[in-house]
Amino acid sequence: MNSVIPIRAEFGKGCTDVKPLMERGQREVFCGLTGIIWLHRKIQDAFFLVVGSRTCAHLIQSAAGVMIFAEPRFGTAIIDERDLAGLADANVELDRVVNQLLARRPEIKLLFLVGSCPSEVIKLDLSRAASRLSAQHSPAVRVLNYSGSGIETTFTQGEDACLASMVPDMPSSSDKAEQELLIVGTLADVVEDQFVRILNHMGIERVRFFPPRRAQDQVSIGSNTRLLLAQPFLGETARVMQARGASLLSAPFPLGIEGTTAWLQSAASSFGVAQDRFQAALTAPVARATASLARAKLHLEGKSIFFFPDSQLEIPLARFLSRELGMKLLEVGTPYLHRQHMAVELAMLPEGTFLSEGQDVEKQLDRCRALHPDMVVCGLGLANPLESEGMTTKWAIELVFTPIQGFDQAGDLAELFTRPLLRRMRLAA
Ligand code: SF4
Repeated sequence: MNSVIPIRAEFGKGCTDVKPLMERGQREVFCGLTGIIWLHRKIQDAFFLVVGSRTCAHLIQSAAGVMIFAEPRFGTAIIDERDLAGLADANVELDRVVNQLLARRPEIKLLFLVGSCPSEVIKLDLSRAASRLSAQHSPAVRVLNYSGSGIETTFTQGEDACLASMVPDMPSSSDKAEQELLIVGTLADVVEDQFVRILNHMGIERVRFFPPRRAQDQVSIGSNTRLLLAQPFLGETARVMQARGASLLSAPFPLGIEGTTAWLQSAASSFGVAQDRFQAALTAPVARATASLARAKLHLEGKSIFFFPDSQLEIPLARFLSRELGMKLLEVGTPYLHRQHMAVELAMLPEGTFLSEGQDVEKQLDRCRALHPDMVVCGLGLANPLESEGMTTKWAIELVFTPIQGFDQAGDLAELFTRPLLRRMRLAA
C-alpha cells in the first residue's frame, strides 16, 4: 500500500536538498476551472457544468475559444443575485438545469458539477447535489463533483481535483489480476498512441490511460496497478489511487529525450523489460528527437530564462531546457512543490538553481526585471506588460494546451521557446 517504486539513482543530487524561496503574497494565476478546456476534449462523453457566475462563464468561453457550430461539452449554471441573496433555492434551480441538459443531450454519460467561488460563497453542497442527481439519472449518467474555484485551486489543480473525483468510482481489480500500467494525466490522443506503440514494442501490453477517452471505459484499480504520472500536478489523484492499492513509479516527467527515456525506463524496470529490448524500442524515436532538438539548440543555447509560477510544469520544463538545450535558469517558480513527485526532477536540475514556491508577484517582478532574462515564462496577465517593457515572453498556458510529451513532440516543445525569441529578433532587425 502507498508504495513508491524507485527509479535507478543515476542523476546525482542536483537540487534534491534545495530549500525554495517560499512566497505567500498576491498571485497571478488562473483558477482551476481552466482545466475544463482540455478535460472536455479528452473525455468525449462527459459534460462539465460549472455552477458559477457570469465571470466563470466568460473565463471558460473565452479561454476555450468556443466554435459556433460545435455543441460544447461544458456550460455554466449561473448563480445570480437572487441565489446569492438566499431568495431562491439553488438546489431546485440546479436540478432543473441538469434535467433539461440531460434530456437534450442523451450522449452525456458523465456529468461533472464543478464548484466555483460563488457556489462556495453560498455554501452550495455540490457533493450532495451530485449524489442526488446520480441516483436520479443512473445508470445512464453518473454525476460527480469537484471544485475549480479560485479560492481552493489554481490552474492545473482543477485537473487534479477532477481526476481525484473519478477515483472512488473506479472498479476494484482482483488481487490475482495481471500487472497493469496506468498512465495518469491528460495527454493528447496522438501522444497516448505513441507511448502505447513504444511500450508494446518493449513487451508491456497492458497499458491503460486515466482519464479514459470515454467515461464508460472504466479503468479498474488495485494492487496490480502501477501508476506512472504523465503530469506533475496530480498530487491528490495519486494519493487516492495509492489508497486503493496502486503503486506509484518514481520517474521524471516525459518532457524531452532524457525525461521521456527515464520515464519509460521506470515502467520498463518495473515490468522487468530487458535492457536490449528497451533500447530497441527507443532507438528510432530517440534519433528523430535528437535531430529536431539540434536545430532548436542553435537558437536557445546560452540564453537565460525566468519562470513565474503557473502550471507546476515549470521544474520539468526547466530541467529539459537547461540539460538538453543549454539554457541558463535564472529563477524557477512553481505554485506548489510536491517533493515526492518531483524527486527525480529535482535531482536532475543543475545544482544551485534558484527555486521559488508560491508567489508575491510584485517582488517576483522586481527580481525578474533586475535579472533581464532573455525569456520569461508567465501567465497571460503578466505577459503583455512584460512584453511592453521589452522582455520576450512565453505564455505558460500554451505549454499545457499543446502536446509536448514524448520523443516525437520534443522538437515542438523546443520550438515553443525558439519562436518568441526569433519573433523578437525579427522585430528588432
Ligand atoms: S471560479 Fe472564481 S476565480 Fe474562477 S472564474 Fe469563477 S469567480 Fe473567477
